[in-house]
Amino acid sequence: MQRIYLDSNATTPMRPEVVAAMMPVFTEDYGNPSSIHWFGQQAKALLDNARQQVARLIHAETSEIVFLSGGTEADNLAIRGIAESQKARGRHIITSRIEHHAVMHTCKDLEKQGYEVSWIGVSSDGLVDPEDVRRAIRPDTILITIMHANNEIGTIQPLEEIGKIAEAADIYFHSDGVQSTGKIPVDVKKLNVDLYSISSHKIHGPKGVGALFIKKGTIAKPQITGGGHERNRRSGTENVPGIVGFGVAAKMAREGLESEMNRVRELRDRLESGLKDRIVRIHINAENAPRLPNTSNIMVDFAEGEGLVISLDLKGVAVSTGSACSSGSLEPSHVLTAIGKTPDEAHGSLRFSLNSTNTAEEIDYVLEVLPQIVDRLRELSPYYKRA
Ligand code: PLP
Repeated sequence: MQRIYLDSNATTPMRPEVVAAMMPVFTEDYGNPSSIHWFGQQAKALLDNARQQVARLIHAETSEIVFLSGGTEADNLAIRGIAESQKARGRHIITSRIEHHAVMHTCKDLEKQGYEVSWIGVSSDGLVDPEDVRRAIRPDTILITIMHANNEIGTIQPLEEIGKIAEAADIYFHSDGVQSTGKIPVDVKKLNVDLYSISSHKIHGPKGVGALFIKKGTIAKPQITGGGHERNRRSGTENVPGIVGFGVAAKMAREGLESEMNRVRELRDRLESGLKDRIVRIHINAENAPRLPNTSNIMVDFAEGEGLVISLDLKGVAVSTGSACSSGSLEPSHVLTAIGKTPDEAHGSLRFSLNSTNTAEEIDYVLEVLPQIVDRLRELSPYYKRA
């Protein structure tokens, strides 16, 4: 059976160039970058090169990039690191209600430790209003953490404005950039962020590698202590093969960003308009908000998201639903309920997330099979018959 992958916000295939760059690092350039001998220095040079490639993608200085195990660890280091380094100043944190679990659960954990968190709501389009952030600021606020682009609905937050508010109030500003990096231009200086999380496997690099941008002069208390790697910001021998792959993925993401994303946007638009033409009573969440070019979150009335995902999978198409979190629970998505959807509506949603290896033929195949699947599921729905 032909398999079609439309779940790229979950993870992406590695590019062949990434794999090719990593291979010799396992068997030939396998030194420990902390060693002073030749092998060590070879590995150190590879690490330096990758750091430059990743820094360039987000317009950071190389010294501002800390390599670690992925987006989740980057979020943890940013939030816990600032919470701990600034606790003498205050214990109040501002975040949004649509953050990824890596941010949300970290903030909830800090609440248990005595920090106070303001959870900012979003509009029905999934956007944070910077004025709400300004209003939430208190004399003891130490950190604002608002994601750049949302993983479920793709909305892009007004970070520049929020960054200015944070800067004027002298409060650290972190953003989870895991979904935005490689999909839209990112310039950490323009965004006014002090900390910015990125992950390699979302941009066609290997899994288990990521980076945290930490602006010069910002002190985030290390969460992993040991040999003082990464300039004392994150200990542990660096994952050199993974980081080399991440570097190549970052370089390719930067060089191909505009052309690839234009192509991906065309495919996404072809999918959305095709589905709207063929299926009645479907809605595109955050349709008119600024959003990622690759993401489409669609709500299908009278059809259950899980049923749609499973039926599509049986036809060879991989997508995800907004209704279940990674642990497979049937809780409705906190993102969809935050934009005002009822639990039932949230359960009827599907997320398509594309990458530049997808083709128009793949989209056309989805346009052929999904209307039939929806018809079949709706026939089983008593509510549909009544409506
Ligand atoms: N933040 C966002 C917005 C994400 O979408 C993800 C992954 O889905 C993460 C953080 C976690 O990244 P990682 O899988 O590298 O730990």
